[in-house]
Amino acid sequence: MTRYFTVQPIAVNSLEAECLSSILQRLAVAHGVTRHQFVTSLRDWWKAEHGRYLPRCEELRWDGYSPNVALAVEALRDAQNADFTGCTLLALKEVCSANCIGSIAHLRSWCPGCFIDDVTSGRPAYDRLVWRIQGYRRCSLHRLRLRSSCPHCGGNQASFASRKELHLCTFCRQNLAAKISRAEYSPRPEFGEEQIESLVRGMGSIAAPHREPIRQFFQGIENADKYVAKHLGDILHNRSLPVKPQLTTLIAVATHFGVDILQLITQPEEAARQVALDVNRPPKARATRPSSHLRQKRTAWFKTKLELAIQSGPPFPSTEALCRRNDYSVSAARNTFPRLTTALSKKHLEWKKGETSQLRRKAVAAIAVFSEVRSQLTVKEFVSKVCVASGAPIHMVRKLIDYNQNEYR
Ligand SMILES: [Zn+2]
Ligand SMILES: [Zn+2]
Repeated sequence: MTRYFTVQPIAVNSLEAECLSSILQRLAVAHGVTRHQFVTSLRDWWKAEHGRYLPRCEELRWDGYSPNVALAVEALRDAQNADFTGCTLLALKEVCSANCIGSIAHLRSWCPGCFIDDVTSGRPAYDRLVWRIQGYRRCSLHRLRLRSSCPHCGGNQASFASRKELHLCTFCRQNLAAKISRAEYSPRPEFGEEQIESLVRGMGSIAAPHREPIRQFFQGIENADKYVAKHLGDILHNRSLPVKPQLTTLIAVATHFGVDILQLITQPEEAARQVALDVNRPPKARATRPSSHLRQKRTAWFKTKLELAIQSGPPFPSTEALCRRNDYSVSAARNTFPRLTTALSKKHLEWKKGETSQLRRKAVAAIAVFSEVRSQLTVKEFVSKVCVASGAPIHMVRKLIDYNQNEYR
């Protein structure tokens, strides 16, 4: 027995499986604390009761396959008497590269349609494991692009300071599923989407993965290295086949050759045999990765993003925020583009210090504070309360508030 409330993982071994960071947030909400506070308490408890050490792991990396994730799952097993392995990518820990690059996305993202389904069906809103995987950009159930910023205040949702349910913004506490626009509708599947979904559905069935799936797979395919360098770009560094590939590499190879990713992981020889039977298929029919991922093109692609961010503000994002939004390493950006990143950081700081931005931040904070009494007020009363408290002008506050807030509560 532990002193913690129990939270059960939702929909494990299905496309809608919950991820571990979502479980931790729901546990935090159940205990009336932030996720940071909950994890601190869990660490102390595990140390005292079991003599085990849980490292600090405050990034959104709880959902991957690193040794720290394995420890977190063990600690939760002791605390909750439940197995949360299926809420992570731990099944891939013997398969994919030890540095975990290319597995879990840097930024939290969500499908507004899924959150609306959660709330209307009366279950807690939760983050899906599939949303956490790098390269997954669209919900195939609702045919909507995933969001990564609040539709009201624009904030990214990476903070651990929130005590709120997962469909509410960390900053303004309004509904992250509101204001679905036509522009978010996305009817066509994206590169790798089907394979990522198949992986999440079958995560529980990867009991005995092959130790060198990519090498084994390409050994069964003639001229594979030349072909792959041309069509799949920088996924195979130095043109040598990695023993432990990045997850994005597995997804790209499976998608390009049209093989099932679970088969590629567990029986690569068999997967290669099936592709070899299919050699006469013209390469055109094979899916090509989006051009931003091809060798050298990614650097140029990110440079454009940087230049655009500098030209099109305000608001100017910080270099870190821009990198996170584009799944680009911050240190790589600083090393490759010292002049541009410095220029952007300078603009960001100037903008942050400016009056408009200060007022906007105060307005967002006031909206969050008054969210508790929101349901008792008319829109007009709410707006004027926020204006008075923050000093922000009416037109600014009106742009920040969710007019349909009460519909989902
Ligand atoms: Zn959805
Ligand atoms: Zn917000």
